[in-house]
Amino acid sequence: MRVIIVGGVAGGASCAARLRRLDENAEILMVERGPYVSYANCGLPYYIGGVIEQQSSLLVATTDTFRDMFAVDARTNCEVVGIAAGEKTVQLKDGVTGEMTTEPYDKLVISPGAAPIRPPWPGIDLPGIFGVRTVPDAAQIRAWIDERRGRSAGMDSYTGFQTRRRKLRAVVVGGGFIGIETAENLVGLGFEVTLLQRGDQIMGPLDIEMARYVERHLDKHGVRILLNDAVSGFREAAGGALEVLTEAGKAYPADIVILGIGVKPETALAEMAGIEVGKLGGIRVDDQMHTSDPDIFAVGDAVEKRDCITGEWSLVALAGPANRQGRIVADVIAGRDAHFRGTQGTAILGAFGGAVAWTGVNEKTLKRLGDEDYEKIYLYPNSHAGYYPGATLLAMKVIFRKSDGKVLGAQAVGQEGVDKRIDAFAMAIQMGATVYDLEECELCYAPQFGMAKSPANFAGMVGANVLRDDMALVHWSDLGDGFLLDVRHPEELAVEHLPGVVNIPVDELRARLDELPRDREILVICRSGQRAYYATRVLVQNGFTARTVAGGMLSHEIFATL
Ligand code: FAD
Repeated sequence: MRVIIVGGVAGGASCAARLRRLDENAEILMVERGPYVSYANCGLPYYIGGVIEQQSSLLVATTDTFRDMFAVDARTNCEVVGIAAGEKTVQLKDGVTGEMTTEPYDKLVISPGAAPIRPPWPGIDLPGIFGVRTVPDAAQIRAWIDERRGRSAGMDSYTGFQTRRRKLRAVVVGGGFIGIETAENLVGLGFEVTLLQRGDQIMGPLDIEMARYVERHLDKHGVRILLNDAVSGFREAAGGALEVLTEAGKAYPADIVILGIGVKPETALAEMAGIEVGKLGGIRVDDQMHTSDPDIFAVGDAVEKRDCITGEWSLVALAGPANRQGRIVADVIAGRDAHFRGTQGTAILGAFGGAVAWTGVNEKTLKRLGDEDYEKIYLYPNSHAGYYPGATLLAMKVIFRKSDGKVLGAQAVGQEGVDKRIDAFAMAIQMGATVYDLEECELCYAPQFGMAKSPANFAGMVGANVLRDDMALVHWSDLGDGFLLDVRHPEELAVEHLPGVVNIPVDELRARLDELPRDREILVICRSGQRAYYATRVLVQNGFTARTVAGGMLSHEIFATL
């Protein structure tokens, strides 16, 4: 059997290597348009910033590795420029010599990835405006930066006593993964960084209140974030610099511009092959990654996948799904009954010592779909036991079904342990777990790593309390004219409190119940929701009507900014 794989990185390379492990006799040809196979595009922002010093560190495997270890004919600088699906042949163009050849296949696997979006803005082709996709892109950016840093080391202005260097300025367009990771690295290189974001939040997969934490963190570390404005064009400025022009009529000077406004599935091959492309612009595949042509498979960033929670088609450009899909295709070609379970978009982003991660569905998607069968909770657990030095706060939002408790999504922001928390939720979601399962899950604990009740247990307990009606919740957006009772200590209220709240610390509550109204609903506030829950239990069991304000003042602080 002859298998041709187009694209030699995440999806393509994992398919080639797996297929060889399953079928020693298959003839495997893997073609890659660029100069490298199997490179770590996820490391590119860190190569730009010099955190990864050597370009060679980005090259996970070479064509030699594929030839020697896997007996795969891997060709770089080799582009598929035509597919004759009827005849089952592809046309290849050698990027160095221009020579064209035709190769037959029994099965064709397409993993061409997604290309950075580059709108036709005036001035977009001016030197100094970069996307970040490939090793050559990153090398060009690094060379551009090195050249400018060399120049700025000279005298820029003379104060009479000393020479002053002007800080180099970067404008990053788009607050997604690539924009933020590159922004962090540019700050590390001494740039003044401005990040422009069209909508009202960065990090689209997060709900807006969780994105606010990330925005604050970036701001604290020197990234100026400008929301609700979009690029309208670019123009040259004095001294070889650029100006980024915006729809709001602003002009931001820049020595470099990084475009991180998203990616678009590469569908040229699909068009050549006449296979179906979906409404979102990705190649349509079934759960075995077959395209509409049974002998052509597609994987990775180029395909539309079913979201495993909403069941909707979705585009997810992440390395994990691309690798898993490549492996599934190899299994299917080798005759195994492998299926892709759909994607849940589990992802993490790190910047300036903090991290934000998420999995599953967010609230705004549920709202868009008109799905009201969900509840959300906000938690602020310590990253590890508070008595062990160095614990920091995590901010978490967990979404679950009201009807059956199934966990639907989780988002977390913090400095430590964000990844392991979201990984636990990711696994729970894939297994169809409920908040009742989370209550019972047994996770590792020692004081320097976590807490005896891990955030997953904690979320399960809170969620299950809500569903069992042990903890009636009210959200900040729905307070109405309830009677506000703050059960924190007066010293805490001195720092911040809501106007008109009545303060009875939780440990005095039982003795002071006669100060509270029996004819009004009492909405109970504390710092994070925990003491408010204790107080609500006291009140309810003493005949009051009471609800806990979800997330307490820690959530209020964020909701107040929305
Ligand atoms: P790619 O890895 O993009 O490979 C596609 C290859 O196909 C390309 O090399 C292209 O040259 C080649 N090709 C296209 N057309 C042809 C043709 N006609 N002929 C021959 N070859 C062709 N994901 C994460 O999960 N975590 C991260 O931290 C992360 N960071 C990232 C950082 C950056 C800067 C970038 C760019 C991506 C990052 N990603 C990350 C996304 C991840 O890299 C992709 O989801 C993954 O690489 C997709 O794999 P793929 O095989 O679909 O496409």
